[in-house]
Amino acid sequence: MPLRDEPSAAPDDLDLTAELARDLIRFDTTNYGEGRSNGETDAAEYVSARLTGLGLTPTIYESEPGRTSVIARVPGRDSSRGALVVHGHLDVVPADPENWSVDPFAGTIKDGLLWGRGAVDMKNMDAMMLAALEDILGAGQAPARDLVVAFFADEEAGGVLGSHYLVDNYPELFDGATEAISEVGGYSITLGDKRAYLLQTGEKALIWIKLVARGTAAHGSRLIRDNAVTRLAEAVAVLGRREWPIRLTDTTTQLLAEVARILDVDPQKVGPDELALATGTASGFIQASLRTTSNPTLLKAGYKHNVIPDTAEALIDIRSLPGEEDAVLAEVADLVGPDIEIVVMHRDIGLETEFDGPLIDAIVGTLGRHDPGAPVLPYLLSGGTDNKALSKLGIRGYGFAPLRLPPELDFPAMFHGVDERVPLDALVFGRRVLTDLLSDY
Ligand SMILES: [Zn+2]
Repeated sequence: MPLRDEPSAAPDDLDLTAELARDLIRFDTTNYGEGRSNGETDAAEYVSARLTGLGLTPTIYESEPGRTSVIARVPGRDSSRGALVVHGHLDVVPADPENWSVDPFAGTIKDGLLWGRGAVDMKNMDAMMLAALEDILGAGQAPARDLVVAFFADEEAGGVLGSHYLVDNYPELFDGATEAISEVGGYSITLGDKRAYLLQTGEKALIWIKLVARGTAAHGSRLIRDNAVTRLAEAVAVLGRREWPIRLTDTTTQLLAEVARILDVDPQKVGPDELALATGTASGFIQASLRTTSNPTLLKAGYKHNVIPDTAEALIDIRSLPGEEDAVLAEVADLVGPDIEIVVMHRDIGLETEFDGPLIDAIVGTLGRHDPGAPVLPYLLSGGTDNKALSKLGIRGYGFAPLRLPPELDFPAMFHGVDERVPLDALVFGRRVLTDLLSDY
């Protein structure tokens, strides 16, 4: 296992954002899924103390012991405007230190980057939120409108114990809120030699299913044609190999048209997949947004080499295009056949909103001041965020965690990836952009 880097390796003039993000990374808030988690309490108490230090009155909510979210309201200059929810999540996905070149929970500063689980998803934005509030409130100012600042638990397991819990049990926390901003958008990508920003205006739906195959339990030497493992393997292969058809939504149509214009190619001659691939590392985000995907992610069967088990199970992570959830589920049932039981473990809606309106104008204007000439493009997120839960209250959510990134960083690979890291100057950029946006909008 790599040695824990000494904190003294960090430069003395470390920006507050990096400091906050580093502190948050050092709380191991791993969420293993299926109810297993290290919990968010320590990180939540840290955040709560920072908010209190700014003169706010944060409240801590525990959905289950250790599963902790923090919410604070920040009065704006004009409370008659709809409130803006600015939210992040405090949990992270697991990290296997064996695969990392640094300790994933040390918050290492190296080569001008902050390394660690959550550096990108999404303790970076948590820190940017805190730093932006410090910039505004610390200077004796107020945001333009009321803010609901939320740090949720459990996002990485669908938000059941975080955003969904709060929306279902304490909807009054979000009274007056009309819009929300959060993760997986607002970062820069490189198209050809041009920098552009992706703003998330939609999310695919998620359907997490379990496949269960049953058969005859028997000695491993027998001739058994209804072997549960074989049956399951066939279904897993069918879903894993499934090429779901490309269907462009309003968001992806608009995105690809802009990409074609920037790359100066004829969208009539270049197909959507090819166009997505031409975006380089950004294709990691864009390709999966053009169709439904169904990825096998976990297998469970058997207990001894010479025993045929009577059941075998697999988890499949399905991300359907918005509005296609039921059709996709029906097709999945068709594909695996009647011998496989399908259990829906968790599902959540897809979202798509227009790339239009005052908040979009404010975001585009703010980015334009901080990075003049870089276009802002709408995109559909292949994953999901806590915006799904907030949408139940009619709150329109966007992905906007602004980061100006160098072209060589494969940013899409950072999400849930190995050696997750973010440039320190990108955090400074994000803090400034967010401060300006919240001050003006
Ligand atoms: Zn996230």
